[in-house]
Amino acid sequence: MAKQYETVIGLEVHVELATKTKIFCGCSTEFGGAPNTHTCPVCTGMPGSLPVLNKQVVELALEVGLAANCEINQYCKFDRKNYFYPDNPQNYQISQLYLPICHDGKIEIDTPIGKKSIRIHEIHMEEDAGKLVHDEWDDCSYVDYNRSGVPLIEIVSEPDMRNADEVIAYLEKLRMIVQYLGASDCKLQEGSMRADVNLSVREVGNPNFGTRTEMKNLNSFKAIARAIEGERERQIELLEEGKTVLQETRRWDDNKESSYPMRSKEDAKDYRYFPDPDLPPVVISDEWIAEIRKKQPELQPEKKLRYQTEYQLSEYDADLITGTKKIADLFEETANLCKQPKKAANWIIGETFRLAKEKKMEPEQISYSPEHLAKLIEMTEAGSITQTVAKNVFFHIFEEDIEPEQYVKQHGLGAVSDSSELEAIVKMVLEENPSTVEQYKAGKEKVVGFLIGQAMKKTKGKGNPGIISKMIKEQLTK
Ligand code: ADP
Ligand code: MG
Ligand code: ZN
Repeated sequence: MAKQYETVIGLEVHVELATKTKIFCGCSTEFGGAPNTHTCPVCTGMPGSLPVLNKQVVELALEVGLAANCEINQYCKFDRKNYFYPDNPQNYQISQLYLPICHDGKIEIDTPIGKKSIRIHEIHMEEDAGKLVHDEWDDCSYVDYNRSGVPLIEIVSEPDMRNADEVIAYLEKLRMIVQYLGASDCKLQEGSMRADVNLSVREVGNPNFGTRTEMKNLNSFKAIARAIEGERERQIELLEEGKTVLQETRRWDDNKESSYPMRSKEDAKDYRYFPDPDLPPVVISDEWIAEIRKKQPELQPEKKLRYQTEYQLSEYDADLITGTKKIADLFEETANLCKQPKKAANWIIGETFRLAKEKKMEPEQISYSPEHLAKLIEMTEAGSITQTVAKNVFFHIFEEDIEPEQYVKQHGLGAVSDSSELEAIVKMVLEENPSTVEQYKAGKEKVVGFLIGQAMKKTKGKGNPGIISKMIKEQLTK
């Protein structure tokens, strides 16, 4: 029988923190900007410049650590990780090795066979590097230090995941926690969340882990899933051929769907880590931790429960709506404005998600105002526009955030409830469809739907369907 293999995966996730300024200087962290405009002597590594720790970085790291059920090192330190590379102007990165700010946490994920806990080994604070821009045309490389010194936390998991689904569930959960806290926007494409995948395989039943590789350059969940599959197969093939897996860092090329080695795995000793003499240790008081715990915002599990009780949403709807904080906020503001939570939920789960999917938009990119959706719901409920028109108006709210009342007026989309106008239309429809009328009278009551449809068509979707249906039935039973 062919050998059965198990995949073992641990993740190192970097998250850029949403501070206004960098971790050790006052430069802006804003994404983009002309090269080297968000820089100063500190973040370009000038001799004699001195780092000063940004307090908000510690606060955000603590918030994430507490939300991920970590222990806190109330006495923590920064260490220098030494290496030479042009994007690293000091020739060392300020990071934490010996006493990271958080350790021993866990995050719960849902799997097809129930809940599973993924342990977190540690969370540490560090600074980001600059960016190299390779100009193939000019055959040279440029360096942009705008990103140099942007604060990061690195969240290191234990090797507790066993397949791509668990990895993605873990990443989604982590992203949700961080976004709910407002600690980062976690955009994989823009690099504000980056995941390195450590992967090994072992024969099922073997208690020992195999040799792992680390894969970098994964900038979407899909790329991560493909990389896991590709690397698993590569390692199994090596083992089947009686060869060994080399511990190394590999770069995943998502276009070629294969990885290639970047460098052999370096050890901590290769980096000559030592405590940074320019930064005093960080002492975190009990009071500070208590304060952060107290102001911890409502996270997804609590919000979901509250939506079920306070707004009577089904568990399924509450789950979908609290999937991202952005959508949860949109829902809650709309519901509170129009006092119709179920309707607000329907517009979000239905049309909003449908249009977002069609346009391949992330929830964060949805930008219409809750006031406009609330107004639309009120107008529909009052019967001043029909459901058909509402759907059309919503499209423009979604696209351009138009004000629905004005829009309906401008485009003459108000519902026709005027009975003389509707009566004339109903009369016309009945005259034009004598055979359908016969069928109805012969007992086939279902055909009334067709007649209502015809009348609606004549009103260009603006006729009040309730009134129309009542009128038709009255005429038919005369
Ligand atoms: P290093 O300090 O050399 O980078 P760590 O022990 O910190 O190594 O582990 C880094 C990451 O690799 C962690 O996320 C850990 O869970 C994962 N990892 C460690 N050993 C294995 C293994 N045998 N298979 C898969 N992942 C592993
Ligand atoms: Mg590591
Ligand atoms: Zn600076």
